[in-house]
Amino acid sequence: MISSLHRPTLAKVDLSAISSNIKEVQNHIPQDVKTLAVVKANAYGHGAVAVANHVQDLVDGFCVSNIDEGIELRQAGLRKPILILGVVLPDEVSLARDNRLTLTIASLDWLEMAQEQQIALDGLLVHLAVDSGMGRIGVRSLSEANELIAGLRQAGSQVEGIFTHFATADEADDRKFQEQLAFFKELVADLDYCPELVHASNSATSLWHSEGIFTAVRLGIVIYGLNPSGQELALPYTVKPALSLDTALVHVKKIPVGADVGYGATYTSSQEEWIGTLPMGYADGWTRDMQGFDVLIDGQRCPIVGRVSMDQITVRLPKSYPLGTKVTLIGQNGNQSISATDLATYRGTINYEVLCLLSDRVPREYK
Ligand SMILES: *Cc1c(COP(=O)(O)O)cnc(C)c1O
Repeated sequence: MISSLHRPTLAKVDLSAISSNIKEVQNHIPQDVKTLAVVKANAYGHGAVAVANHVQDLVDGFCVSNIDEGIELRQAGLRKPILILGVVLPDEVSLARDNRLTLTIASLDWLEMAQEQQIALDGLLVHLAVDSGMGRIGVRSLSEANELIAGLRQAGSQVEGIFTHFATADEADDRKFQEQLAFFKELVADLDYCPELVHASNSATSLWHSEGIFTAVRLGIVIYGLNPSGQELALPYTVKPALSLDTALVHVKKIPVGADVGYGATYTSSQEEWIGTLPMGYADGWTRDMQGFDVLIDGQRCPIVGRVSMDQITVRLPKSYPLGTKVTLIGQNGNQSISATDLATYRGTINYEVLCLLSDRVPREYK
């Protein structure tokens, strides 16, 4: 989708907030722990190249989800290590090697497939994934880990890391977390060959479970200034949201009592009302279930009335405002503010999804 520049709908990304959030986490974890900044999914909607460029000197490497996201960073000139967190099938190995991307290897089956296809694995940088209870990817036993590491090393790959991922590090109940941690610790302790980088910590682990920090951390949502638990657990220190989202009124009118607004005529005015229209909609990531939530205008909360359309949203105003009046969807406006977590709570989802769904149609402006 083309980025729509000639429209007042704009996401502003404060890159200095991201670097100060990284420093804040680093100040709260042991100094010798390496930092991998997770910039997958276009840096959670903030812009992967811009974020990576800005923070590269603060971190030891980056994590992305697939090979294309890694190549995007290499083509932008980034030179730090880049770990692909998802599984890349063996037929793409040469692309990874040519771009010095580190692959996650998650099963013996993968190694066997690569060998059957006679794919050269020498010089390939790899981390081993351990499934300690997340149930997505990774080896599930010590014997498979040992066999896989030995096979990869024999094939000439550099096994630089081993990692696991927690399913519940962002929840108050830590029983599942402790089970996963115990499994991973024991497996790592018993390895025939232990890689240099051992990592299990996502943002939530770095914030609330220092016992889950090994020699590196993978920091995602916290560097963008949001709480991984939503509203469940309090942050132990402050981080600053990096993204705000604004638009402007492009149409304002007074409607009489009993007038309908939007598709399906789901809203009918109960008195004379001022209605404003905003140039954005669900194609920008402002999903239809935002009907009934608020936007901020002139420091006041104004409800979204009627259905959210693909490209337009209607809001109820307390009075008439001039065309071009600023409307804040995420961020501060006067004394009011709306966070991605507030939106997520209203929508019954998580702040991660709110940010990732902001589409390419919304331009990102950096400061
Ligand atoms: C996305 C992801 C992370 C980062 O998670 P946050 O909760 O955003 O910190 C870390 N590790 C893996 C394997 C991931 O997929």
